[in-house]
Amino acid sequence: MSDYLVELAKNATARKVIKNLGLPVPMPQELQRSDKPRQTRPLVGQSVGFWTGDGAGKMAQAIGATLRGAGAQIYAPAGSEIDESMPLEADPSMEFSALVFDATSLTTPEELRELYDFFHPRVGLIRRGGRVVIIGRPAETQKDAAANATQASLEGFMRSLAKEVAKDGITANLLYVDDEAEEAVSSPLRFLLSKRSAYVDGQSMRVSKPYGKGEMLEENWVGSLAGKVAVVTGAARGLGRATVLALAAEGARVVCVDLPGDQEATEALASEVNGGVFLADVSAADTPERLSRELKENYGGVDIIVHNAGITRDKTLKRMKPAAWDSTLDINLGAIERITRRLADDKTLNTGGRIICLSSIAGVAGNLGQTNYATSKAGVMGLVEHWSREFARRKITANAIAPGFIETRMTDAMPVAIREAARRLNNLRQGGQPTDIAQTVAFLAMPQSQGVNAQVLRVCGGTLIGR
Ligand code: NAD
Repeated sequence: MSDYLVELAKNATARKVIKNLGLPVPMPQELQRSDKPRQTRPLVGQSVGFWTGDGAGKMAQAIGATLRGAGAQIYAPAGSEIDESMPLEADPSMEFSALVFDATSLTTPEELRELYDFFHPRVGLIRRGGRVVIIGRPAETQKDAAANATQASLEGFMRSLAKEVAKDGITANLLYVDDEAEEAVSSPLRFLLSKRSAYVDGQSMRVSKPYGKGEMLEENWVGSLAGKVAVVTGAARGLGRATVLALAAEGARVVCVDLPGDQEATEALASEVNGGVFLADVSAADTPERLSRELKENYGGVDIIVHNAGITRDKTLKRMKPAAWDSTLDINLGAIERITRRLADDKTLNTGGRIICLSSIAGVAGNLGQTNYATSKAGVMGLVEHWSREFARRKITANAIAPGFIETRMTDAMPVAIREAARRLNNLRQGGQPTDIAQTVAFLAMPQSQGVNAQVLRVCGGTLIGR
């Protein structure tokens, strides 16, 4: 599926004509994306401006280590204690691939002036397709009201900055890192700085302490899913298909689940990635038991479950038939609960596993004609919140992804006017691509992402609706 305005905007003459006509048409920039397998040093050749406070704290050191490890050239304030960094102030016209701001030391509203002082002179120096990442502490963990307010403020700043820089395909996001979770910042920070997160914009994500006493997070970024078994439901097309390809590219063996009617497409995909096929309706009564047995007997269990299969049966509540309510709730919510419970009870889901559910922005904000769908998608957020606690002892994380408008068959089926509005109502003024979701799934599935748990991560281009 393609976005005609993005296509048109690739043509310089067309851009010029539209601009000269003064038409109020938002001309979106084609986003720079990557779906190549991960590398150890993806930021080689990139310059990152890094505000560190004094640079001596645990957080600044962990960020510095991440940037260095990823191969970036770091520019930090002169005198900061970040190894191998160059002075930030040396060249006032220097351009940056990314700006990273460690706000964890800020505790009073007056200190927020540091945000202005760092970003004001540099916001125009971020390269097209660049990144802004701000790092704070969860506001509610702060000692006093002033500190709580200061950390909460970061959200408003980041969201507004995201809107300001979006015209150049630049994203801004925020990581709220718990005390003692500093080492877990590496994977989410790498993700947000990469071209894999091109459609993640204006979002905050919490990073919590990874499990296990003295246990180090996996350091190997290449093929980090090698030896893992993943199951993806609704694999035949759209987001599911892209997800299968992304997980396989990182080394996972992927079992593709879809309806018996989609046998051909499912088998073709599975053979493309050397994976398995399991044909079933996820909502059928015997599917949890059959799937659990299949995964245990033929794959030795499963490490990553991606609950992606989903349907829409849109109608206003007044006109909705009971079957439209029942099937949507059962496929989008009931089946996810039943399958996960069975896989967990049977211990088919391995220790250190990952549960990743597809929610939706409609579950956050609600949507006209989608009472059934939004109910199911909000319910999914409750599932992951509970499972993140229930399965903590087994080091299993549970997260949800809430896509905004992504170009697939599902969104292609929307009435034209609604589709066009939904496509444009975000900071980046375009729909996302299936790979944007797939790359987010792969990021959450990685062993290094252990600190990301119980999150609802919006992949929506900074959609203007919702909280
Ligand atoms: P899609 O319709 O393109 O693909 C969905 C797949 O799920 C299909 O292959 C279908 O056969 C399969 N499926 C449906 N019911 C099934 C069942 N009962 N058992 C087994 N398989 C079943 O949809 P998509 O756009 O790729 O969406 C994937 C997921 O992402 C869904 O959960 C959807 O609600 C969610 N989502 C999508 C968007 C978007 O913009 N595309 C936005 C928000 C959320």
